[in-house]
Amino acid sequence: MSYNSHHSYSSTWGDSDKMSNLGAGLHSVDWSRTTLEHFEKNFYLEDKRVSARSEREIEEFRRSKEIKIQGRNVPRPVTSFSEAGFPEYLMASIRAQGFKEPTPIQCQAWPMALSGRDVIAIAQTGSGKTISFALPAMLHINAQPLLAPGDGPIALVLAPTRELAVQIQQECTKFGSNSRIRNTAIYGGAPKGPQIRDLQRGVEIVIATPGRLIDMLETGKTNLRRVTYLVMDEADRMLDMGFEPQIRRIVSQIRPDRQTLMFSATWPKDVQKLASDFLHDMIQCNVGSMDLTANHNIEQIIDVCSEFEKRNKLISHLEKISAENAKVLIFVATKRVADEITKYLRQDGWPALAIHGDKEQRERDWVLGEFKAGRSPILIATDVASRGLDVKDVGYVINYDFPNNCEDYVHRVGRTGRAGKKGTSFTYFTTENARSARELISILREAKSVVPPELEEMAMLGGGGGKGKSSQIGCPLSMDWSSRSIQQW
Ligand code: ADP
Ligand code: MG
Repeated sequence: MSYNSHHSYSSTWGDSDKMSNLGAGLHSVDWSRTTLEHFEKNFYLEDKRVSARSEREIEEFRRSKEIKIQGRNVPRPVTSFSEAGFPEYLMASIRAQGFKEPTPIQCQAWPMALSGRDVIAIAQTGSGKTISFALPAMLHINAQPLLAPGDGPIALVLAPTRELAVQIQQECTKFGSNSRIRNTAIYGGAPKGPQIRDLQRGVEIVIATPGRLIDMLETGKTNLRRVTYLVMDEADRMLDMGFEPQIRRIVSQIRPDRQTLMFSATWPKDVQKLASDFLHDMIQCNVGSMDLTANHNIEQIIDVCSEFEKRNKLISHLEKISAENAKVLIFVATKRVADEITKYLRQDGWPALAIHGDKEQRERDWVLGEFKAGRSPILIATDVASRGLDVKDVGYVINYDFPNNCEDYVHRVGRTGRAGKKGTSFTYFTTENARSARELISILREAKSVVPPELEEMAMLGGGGGKGKSSQIGCPLSMDWSSRSIQQW
């Protein structure tokens, strides 16, 4: 089988995250005619303390942590870091982080991932999903033969944005630095040279956005022959219209007996069906409700208003917040509005910067850095920042424009209230957004947040007809795909 391609992508700065016929140059692999060398994916040894528990104790633990499981032979959860059976080099990095105990998703997902199973893991924003897949990845890698020259990665993590890919990479570095596991992030908008050099030196973990990875595969800069551990972070996003064709091309290059894991905070019905194309005999865990819900550490405030009132409301909210020294993340619908609001705020003396898909990667990196460091505590963003980003001390999220769908709402507000901290979100909701009213109300009710009467009215007036509860298990209604933005951030 050959992975070399006939044509190459030439632009150094080409934005290969965009939709295109990327991957057309990839040879399809006939896996049925390929003899695959055996590899080990189950190296989980249940700790004696875990085995000693009664079935009732296990159920009680799951119930207390709101862990629900589905599938055949789901392993028991662990209740402490030491029960997970991580080697000392990982335990040392966990201690260095000062984490007291594993989060519920970590308790359940670690045994699932370590036993080599295909896994779907759904848990609230900010609940520690990254190391739920990253630490088992390291054990998986250490159980495989060393990389030979020319080998591609053993673990591949796919993520929807460049910033998230980099963040996951940093997390892998934090925990993998004590072992000799090398990693790199492969994403568009940045020069290819350093990424190619990393790939050619040999890396056990690649964290990638799909477009640039396909580019690297087509030009023969790496290959996926050694991949046996595949993760899709923000999996529902990776499988929606913007990414699905690219994901299929990438996955077709990976041996079918690999282990596949999918993580997200939201899991809409339509994606559930698609996901089953990539998983075998999968097991699933959900932390919290099976419906679409927001993290309960976030106080969700909905302000029903008109388009014209938004600017004044924004200023008065910022005035209130500014006394608190907290970071504020403001989401808008388009790049144009992002630039307009940024200009408007800066003219009014606010330390605001914007991040969106039309900005060069260098500027995106710089802006996010300023925001993380707190030098520029107000960030205006499109949905490019709605998924996965973990920035300390984001006290407030403002939805200046309501997103295209309620999943994105849950992810956006989830940039605050992370790792057990509290947060607040303000959402400006206009008649334009009426079709989301019903679903938003159920999210608010579930979190015991205030439902403004105007919002109820909108829901009753028929807005959002059948749109409610698209994430509910067994719900016959389908998502409105037309409302999903296709990578136009
Ligand atoms: P998610 O992917 O679920 O949104 P992240 O993996 O980004 O969440 O983690 C959110 C934050 O929680 C990060 O800052 C991470 O370092 C921290 N974190 C992860 N695990 C724990 C833990 N067991 N205890 C405390 N904090 C944790
Ligand atoms: Mg995450």
